Amino acid sequence: MEYWMCECGKKVSANSTVCPYCRTDKPGVATKIQSVSDGARVVVTDFDMPFLSMVGFIMKWALASIPALIGLFVLFAVFGAAIKALLPL
Ligand SMILES: [Zn+2]
Repeated sequence: MEYWMCECGKKVSANSTVCPYCRTDKPGVATKIQSVSDGARVVVTDFDMPFLSMVGFIMKWALASIPALIGLFVLFAVFGAAIKALLPL
């Protein structure tokens, strides 16, 4: 059985990414997310990502923004046409 040492001093199973005693994240986990007990709200407190992984992530994000922009363009065009039809200018 493998363990990792939590900063609170307890041994935690290697399978779990969060210390069951103090809810601290396992060191080296890509994102540190503090979830409030009900799980509905998530607060990101830190973001630790290797440089190349970050580059890939931002490239993916930029590419994903293209269909998002097209969707917004169509939405605004439809909305604008509706307003133009309703207003007698
Ligand atoms: Zn702990």
